[in-house]
Amino acid sequence: MSNLGPLPEAHHLMFDQHLRKLQDQNLLRRLRTIDSATGPTVVLEGREVILLSSNNYLGLATHPTVVAAAIAATRQYGAGSGAARLVCGSLMPHHTLEAALARFKGTEAALTFASGYLANIGAIPALIGKDGFILADRLCHASLIDGCRLSGAMFRVYHHSDMHHLERLLARRPAGTRTLIVTDGLFSMDGDIAPMQDIAELAERYDAMIYVDDAHGTGILGRTGRGTLEHCEVEARIPFHMGTLSKALGSSGGYLTGSASFIAYLVNTCRSFTYTTAPNPGSAAAAAAALQIIEHEPERRIRLWENRARLAQGLLRLGFDLAASQSPILPIIVGTPDRAMTMAQSLFAHGVYAPAIRPPTVPPATSRIRLTITADHTPELIDRALVILEQAGRAINLI
Ligand code: PMP
Repeated sequence: MSNLGPLPEAHHLMFDQHLRKLQDQNLLRRLRTIDSATGPTVVLEGREVILLSSNNYLGLATHPTVVAAAIAATRQYGAGSGAARLVCGSLMPHHTLEAALARFKGTEAALTFASGYLANIGAIPALIGKDGFILADRLCHASLIDGCRLSGAMFRVYHHSDMHHLERLLARRPAGTRTLIVTDGLFSMDGDIAPMQDIAELAERYDAMIYVDDAHGTGILGRTGRGTLEHCEVEARIPFHMGTLSKALGSSGGYLTGSASFIAYLVNTCRSFTYTTAPNPGSAAAAAAALQIIEHEPERRIRLWENRARLAQGLLRLGFDLAASQSPILPIIVGTPDRAMTMAQSLFAHGVYAPAIRPPTVPPATSRIRLTITADHTPELIDRALVILEQAGRAINLI
């Protein structure tokens, strides 16, 4: 009894029942310990495995310059920020990073958040309230959906990247309603790119705002790595957008970029900015260093896309179907959670870590192995992973 802690036993029974139900449906999650730096290989539960599921696309999380910047800022400013930025003053590394982000994205200003999740659940309600109308892509990231729900606005979902459906819903909305279209730029679980030209056109025609989450596009898409909006040539038509520092930038945090008045508006209205402690200075400095590398070392982006081509071509040659992927995110859709778990276990047993992604992260019947490739994977590692993927795919009769 004593090790159950202060909660009555009935609560523990309820937790256990819920966990058993998840286990029965093969939907139980558990944390698995890595005891090494993140990279193309990691030591997971005591074994060295090829990591094919990290969003550290450019390998910058362990880049010596990025790590050194985090250490230097931590030495100079401390490990923690002390309080929210409006409460105890706003540390220089955050301002330096925001100036660098604005310059990189070609906007007047930027604002950083402790995570991308916080950016989305704060910025969407700041932009639109109970009397507004939101149209979100069906495959939007969970943080976008949560932001839409928190806003209290009327909220409809359009079929994935289906512009006819989006237009039908826009045409039917109550007259004169403030409207926000919400989409990922590069979809996190499917690796396809939103049709931003078409979305921009509809937004202009129906007088709607657009909220793009470019967590996965930033740093890897576009001629200079500015992201999905650069790739789709719509930067001039979409005045603000959101992204993260946690993927290609190898650090952690979220951001919005836009006009100076938009950013000042967020500082004054966005609860997930106001009521949380500022990100630690080390993370901000690391992200700023990563931005410089992205701007000055395009060869990393080139290597990422070469690796993506090698892995994707290898998978297609083996007979895998990569759905609509256009990016370093390569989904192998297998259907049921059971099948996805079996494939993930087989991969791990042979030396590849790429966990099964199951509902509610993805829609029912689309459980998958979501592979991601980075600039730091070598051709040898990719070829070794392909052999293991082939075995695992055959074991469940997928190929
Ligand atoms: N948006 C998208 C599309 C994401 O994939 C993620 C994280 N996986 C987030 C937002 C949340 O970002 P963060 O991890 O920085 O909270």
